Amino acid sequence: MIRSTAKMVEAPPPRTSDEWARDKRVMPPASPVPGPFNPDSNPYMKPIAWAFAQPQFRRVTFVMGTQMGKSVTMENVCGHRLDEDPTPVLYVTPTKPLITSTVEPKFMDMFRECADLWRKYDKRRSTQFTKWLGGTKFRFAWAGSPTELAADSAGLILVDEVDRITNTGEGDTTEIIEARGDAYVDSKVGYTATPLRGRVDKRQHPDTGLWHWQPGKKGAVTSKVWRLWQSGTRHEWAVPCPECLGYFIPHLELLWWPGQGSKDECTPDEAERHARLTCSCCGTPIKDKYRPWMNARGVAVAPGESVTPARREGDQVLAGEVQGTAETEGSSHYSLWVSGLCSFAAKKSYGFLAKKLLEAQRSGDPATLMGVYNTGFGQLYAEVGDVPTWEEIRAMRWAYAAGELVLPDPLRVFCTIDVQKTRLVYTIRAWFAGMGTQLLEHGELWGNTDEDTVWGDLSELIDSEYAGHPINETGIDVGYRDDQVYAFINAHKGRAVALRGRDKLDKPIKKELVEVDRKGKVRKRGDSRWAFDSPLAKRWVHSRISRAQSGDADRFPGWWLIPTDVTDDYCKQIVGEEWDEAAGKYNQVGENHYLDCEAMQYVMALRAKLHRRKRGALTLGDLKRLRDGKPEAIEHDEAVEPAAPATEPEPSPPPEPAKKARFKVKRRRR
Ligand SMILES: [Zn+2]
Repeated sequence: MIRSTAKMVEAPPPRTSDEWARDKRVMPPASPVPGPFNPDSNPYMKPIAWAFAQPQFRRVTFVMGTQMGKSVTMENVCGHRLDEDPTPVLYVTPTKPLITSTVEPKFMDMFRECADLWRKYDKRRSTQFTKWLGGTKFRFAWAGSPTELAADSAGLILVDEVDRITNTGEGDTTEIIEARGDAYVDSKVGYTATPLRGRVDKRQHPDTGLWHWQPGKKGAVTSKVWRLWQSGTRHEWAVPCPECLGYFIPHLELLWWPGQGSKDECTPDEAERHARLTCSCCGTPIKDKYRPWMNARGVAVAPGESVTPARREGDQVLAGEVQGTAETEGSSHYSLWVSGLCSFAAKKSYGFLAKKLLEAQRSGDPATLMGVYNTGFGQLYAEVGDVPTWEEIRAMRWAYAAGELVLPDPLRVFCTIDVQKTRLVYTIRAWFAGMGTQLLEHGELWGNTDEDTVWGDLSELIDSEYAGHPINETGIDVGYRDDQVYAFINAHKGRAVALRGRDKLDKPIKKELVEVDRKGKVRKRGDSRWAFDSPLAKRWVHSRISRAQSGDADRFPGWWLIPTDVTDDYCKQIVGEEWDEAAGKYNQVGENHYLDCEAMQYVMALRAKLHRRKRGALTLGDLKRLRDGKPEAIEHDEAVEPAAPATEPEPSPPPEPAKKARFKVKRRRR
């Protein structure tokens, strides 16, 4: 008696949908892996199938890019349930055409290829959107139709491409969907999607050393599926390095190609041939051929859990073990993120992804970049021109007073002018090697700008000197009061130039000849102006600030300083425009004249080719040491911005990475 009780307690764990599929599904010839379904070909889906079989999880969310096997997994979960533990099923997609063109035909393939399901399939009762299998209802619904969603309850609800669902006037679609499961005590809801927009960071867990996605700040993540993922157990797919056997979580920034981010960066085609995944434990550049080997030993890990290194046993390398307790322990919502770098699809190689990413980076087109981040890597995308708050700018003040030089010999001192109706707004900056720059002065000269007085004041201003250094050149924006601007420039030949910002330009700066004035009269010969890419210049300014915040400015040349006595007005105006990701342009959210002036400072520096002056460039870290009286620590005679951040591993150039010969694990394996 006791024995049989024990047997009952030790009942086998519930079969998972992927094991069901191994038994019963035969994939059609056109699928990525045709023939009998093999869960081992797609190891990162095993935790998903497992979670659907665990009674403690009411929700399961999985987030990944395209070509990762999401659809097949959803089909397996439905097929398994309908076959072995029938309950009404509701399958939701963003649109009706998606069901008719793609989803419904795929499900019909599964029903036909699986003998047990096909036997149960009621051909007479079933319609395109409602299938009957052995008396159980399987229904398709789309998000645009609340009546379809609200029709009846279901024990299993699966929602595909969550991020493409737009909410209707009926309220939050996911809330309507979840309400369908209310009638069933053990109902489950599954969500999947390729994520779209949001800003999140990776952070190294202090105890385990693994780099996890941090939950995004409020308002920073618009992606619904990512928000769902954040509210769950926050598992991520970790794989072992074939070199050091340590586990790490692959993501976009670990993808490497020759010359990455430097002047000598390779072409996209070369990147395709030489791309490697960098192990975040030991820095080894890993070749794409190890991808299946790594996936086979992969584990899903939540923050707080650690993974023991993979271990050699004879000729085998066995997967590591997940240890410790997840910070999300006890959650009834299992969530998993898998990087596109772990795709089971042979086509989606490191090289393929590197080529796509580099092409997108070169295009500079946010829409293309977003596509690669989302579908390629399964990551969120946010525009890089992140605008800080004005308080953050204020917090950047450096220990010097307006007018004081932080270093003795600036390469140039520029003044830039934004022309308003009743005032001229100006900034004066000193520029040093490596694009280091400090704000010397900023302010406003009041007076109607169609009258001479204020221009006279400007003549005096540009005669200012800073420890004996004159203002070398003054850049003035044209487009308003052009006649006065050109009159001033002609009166200060060689010392003043006209600048003209454009929303789009094929290069950062471009000299244009001005043929006519506003009244259509031919101007004096020699009038010219420098057109510049205005969004680019503003994003450069904002990037200086994020660089200082990230610590990059401490390590690489290219600092951008403001004095202790800078005004709050100045700080507010620097963030007077916000980058609009959807529209791909800056929107004005407040006064922005100082931002315009600072963007023009960058243009003046480019025009003077200061970005090529690298000899003697200092980092912000060097400046700090100088300020603290430790100049001996500085060794920057020929400082040149390195190809990659110093803290990141720098794999050797192709075709033979230095550590290649040490990949012994693979050879011994079989
Ligand atoms: Zn390693």
